[in-house]
Amino acid sequence: MCDLRALDVVECIDDTPVLKQSAVMPKAGHLYRVQSVRRVGDGFSVRLFELSPKCHLGGPCNCGNCGWDSGRFRLAHRREEDKLSILRAFLSKMETRTGVVPEVVD
Ligand SMILES: [Zn+2]
Repeated sequence: MCDLRALDVVECIDDTPVLKQSAVMPKAGHLYRVQSVRRVGDGFSVRLFELSPKCHLGGPCNCGNCGWDSGRFRLAHRREEDKLSILRAFLSKMETRTGVVPEVVD
């Protein structure tokens, strides 16, 4: 399981490109904010707010499927209050799926 989540601040610990098309890379030692984490094959693909990857289809990524391996990052900072907003976002998705309004008790 990947321990990174959306809105986490992460530090890049590996900026060596693996593929030729990996022209846009995060820089080692720099901090980034996670936009999304997605399961891809055996690993996890991370998207960042600050950087758009080059697309496997060519050009800057608009397909939304490209990202960097989660192993390139380590968690630097997580805001505790973000957990609640993530929970709220999750619950609002449940609401649209089930039609049932879940309750959040603060
Ligand atoms: Zn793409």
